[in-house]
Amino acid sequence: MAKSKSGKPQPLMLDDRDHRFAAEENPFEAMMYRFDDAATRLNLEPGLYKVLREPEKQIIVSVPVLRDNGEIEVYTGFRVLHNRSRGPAKGGIRFDLAVSLDEVKALAAWMTWKCAVVNLPFGGGKGGVICDPSSMSDREIERMTRRYTSAIIETLGPESDVPAPDVNTNERVMAWIMDTYSMHKRHTVTGVVTGKPVAMGGSLGRKDATGRGCLVVTLCALAKKKMSAEGATVAVQGFGNVGSTAARLMAEAGMKIIAVSDKSGGAYNPKGLDVAGCLKWTGGGKLLNNYKKGERVTNEELLTLKCDVLVPAALENVITSKNADQIQAKIICEGANGPTTARADAILDQKGVYVIPDILANAGGVTVSYFEWVQDRGGYFWDERTVNERLEKIMKESFNEVAAMAGEHKVSMRIGAYMVAISRVAAMHRMRGVYA
Ligand code: NAD
Repeated sequence: MAKSKSGKPQPLMLDDRDHRFAAEENPFEAMMYRFDDAATRLNLEPGLYKVLREPEKQIIVSVPVLRDNGEIEVYTGFRVLHNRSRGPAKGGIRFDLAVSLDEVKALAAWMTWKCAVVNLPFGGGKGGVICDPSSMSDREIERMTRRYTSAIIETLGPESDVPAPDVNTNERVMAWIMDTYSMHKRHTVTGVVTGKPVAMGGSLGRKDATGRGCLVVTLCALAKKKMSAEGATVAVQGFGNVGSTAARLMAEAGMKIIAVSDKSGGAYNPKGLDVAGCLKWTGGGKLLNNYKKGERVTNEELLTLKCDVLVPAALENVITSKNADQIQAKIICEGANGPTTARADAILDQKGVYVIPDILANAGGVTVSYFEWVQDRGGYFWDERTVNERLEKIMKESFNEVAAMAGEHKVSMRIGAYMVAISRVAAMHRMRGVYA
């Protein structure tokens, strides 16, 4: 935490060239930078600051797996619970060669703040196994999932730690985790994971939830900026689950989608693209850079197009100090996690771009995961309209709370979101005290 000569904590400035800025493109360090900034502005007590920076529990396990060729391979797996003061840890499990303990620790903290900003009774967790699932058969992935689950089984449970899908894991993997956990418990426990198939306790509306949340907060931001949604121009980077749903729902809400892209590049039409046509094209497995009803645009060009709303919904670190000053959008809705670096934040702030930060903008997904957990525990399932209405209510309230905090402290929506999140988690720690 930065201190003045008097010893009083001071908001961090971008000129504070400490280790956090050594790597602009380390999204986790950038996240911790924002945490520090918000914690300083909240005058967080030094003791609580130390508690909130450190994960509560870190588990490292060896995962022996019988390969199809009869050989045994041993993988390393992690599960990190960052903070469970507000409820069970919530966070995905990824299978990837790039998984590391440091990354899992940072992502677990990220989940603590995301759950708190939308006021869910969850803490943050994350897990992963270092492996290359593309080189493994389905049977090998199943055996690895089940052995990893049994290795971390003490921490799992609807009351303590509730995983979800993440990079290279899906509802099939969640079904295996649920089954393995249930076999150990001797009864079916659907609420131990979210992101399950609907037929086995998943929630209606989960697939569209993140994109729908993006729509809700974008409409709030347009209203705040006194801009009309009708005809507002939108560019969307990434046309996967989040980006394509956001584009479809925004078009249905009367907005004009002028550009969409995938990893190949994208299509641009200032008069508006036919989103249903784009979905049909990509649904057939074709890439958007070959889409005929628009001009070709690269992913870099898409970010700097003249538009009202930009939705980065693909990768982290796409808006950096190198291109932030060329951004022409008035509003950025961060569908992806970590698309904007901390250095870019400062430039966007100066330009007056209204950024709806990732921990708020894409929290629709974890919100409907929460609904899934609630429905599993209650054994009573809601129709899709109920799910969507409750999601909309939470997203709107959260947007208003973050905007109020940002207004009161004259900070960006991002720092406002971290301040809301940290103050909620800190309040819980103060009420609970320190168990000794
Ligand atoms: P996805 O895999 O369904 O889609 C990703 C899209 O990004 C695809 O269209 C892909 O072609 C595109 N893409 C890949 N590499 C690219 C590149 N180099 N340049 C441009 N586009 C590229 O993933 P998703 O579930 O839509 O997730 C997208 C982002 O949203 C990620 O950052 C993810 O962490 C975040 N997120 C997702 C959810 C969710 O519920 N799915 C929730 C919160 C946050």
